[in-house]
Amino acid sequence: MFEKILIANRGEIALRIQRACRAMGIKTVIVYSEADSEAKYVKLADESVCIGPAPVAQSYLNIPAIISAAEVTDAEAIHPGYGFLSENADFAERVEKSGFVFIGPRPETIRLMGDKVSAKNAMKVAGVPCVPGSDGALPEDIDTIKKVTRKIGYPVIIKAAGGGGGRGMRVVHTEAALPNAVIMTRNEAQAAFGNPVVYAEKYLENPRHIEFQLLIDGQGNAVHLGERECSLQRRHQKILEEAPAQGISEALRNKIGVRCAEACRQIKYRGVGTFEFLFEKDEFYFIEMNTRLQVEHPVTEAVTGIDLVQAQINIAAGEILPFKQNDIAIKGHAIECRINAEDAYKLTPSAGRITQYHAPGGPGVRVDTHVYHNYMVPPYYDSMIGKIITYGDTREQAIARMRIALSETVVQGIKTNIPLHLDLLTDASFLNGQFSIHYLERKLALHNQQAD
Ligand code: ADP
Repeated sequence: MFEKILIANRGEIALRIQRACRAMGIKTVIVYSEADSEAKYVKLADESVCIGPAPVAQSYLNIPAIISAAEVTDAEAIHPGYGFLSENADFAERVEKSGFVFIGPRPETIRLMGDKVSAKNAMKVAGVPCVPGSDGALPEDIDTIKKVTRKIGYPVIIKAAGGGGGRGMRVVHTEAALPNAVIMTRNEAQAAFGNPVVYAEKYLENPRHIEFQLLIDGQGNAVHLGERECSLQRRHQKILEEAPAQGISEALRNKIGVRCAEACRQIKYRGVGTFEFLFEKDEFYFIEMNTRLQVEHPVTEAVTGIDLVQAQINIAAGEILPFKQNDIAIKGHAIECRINAEDAYKLTPSAGRITQYHAPGGPGVRVDTHVYHNYMVPPYYDSMIGKIITYGDTREQAIARMRIALSETVVQGIKTNIPLHLDLLTDASFLNGQFSIHYLERKLALHNQQAD
């Protein structure tokens, strides 16, 4: 096992990874920007290295600074967390070439899955159901493109092969709108991701977003840990997740989960990974794979009892998975609310000092956050300041516990989205499980209309 791990991230996930290391008796090195020097996990770390000023390009994305921090502190492995460099194949390669272990998949796998066209092809070969679409990249010639999209049937969605973060896609309802949409998405893709390749998919009108958690060791032992419901999104970003998803039978869960596990074996995957699907009319359609730990991993931990970060570290250290698929049982229900420093309905960010802070507690309540009384939320980074996760024997119990937990939570001095979560937790459609990926955006639009 490693003696020392460098954590190349910030915020709640830096603390989460640090807790896993401490539980395993592993020393931690934290790299941080000048804006994060007061952070709790920086104080708790065995060693810490300032890697640059607040802007991410000069700190959390500064590869040479991170590698030299690992060198000077003599760390053995680097955990990238999520976001930042976690899905950057070049970073993973640099880490390994410099003689450290990258806690994640091999660079080749990250590259394969980071290109959505090659990812979809690999999944199709492995028997994972995909959204119908162009087989591969769209050609240059517009008449050929028209033939392809006619065959798919309108509406279609034009997506960037290198896209991410909900950017680089465009829905097209008519053939007349197609040429412009292709050109615009191509230009945007080139500007944002340095890759002009686009592809087309059938646009599903009212799907849910459901994803599967996979865990694979370096010897080809792969298990799935069931699914998470992640449909409640604003601006393509999830805010409330749960496990398991409503209305997924054990048989269907196993059918899809086992295919994902098989796909992982075929591509020689290693570590934790998430298969994202759109789910409509009882059918799953693969959209992409995330080759890292997810923000919402705690709901899976709650219903399986498996610590995913410790599992990641064990796998990176070359250990074999200590369980088989048959040993894994999904028990109870878990919900996660992401607490964002933002106006609950207008979504405008709200950085600043937290003047009062009180965390919730009680049975079945987990709080993952790095903030504390008097903490200064910096304006430079993602607005998420923490997560509250509740667990119950049933969905109703998990929801009831979440309502109490949120009503106990005090965060003053900045705005948070807690009012929106409380609103959702009494919303009839949410309670009945009647929602798609568009539900939250529509609810927000309605609220803002009424407020104006
Ligand atoms: P990203 O990597 O940017 O997150 P995804 O491929 O995961 O891109 O898609 C992000 C979101 O866009 C999905 O969660 C869904 O809301 C929407 N989306 C993507 N593909 C489709 C599709 N074929 N039909 C309907 N919605 C889609």
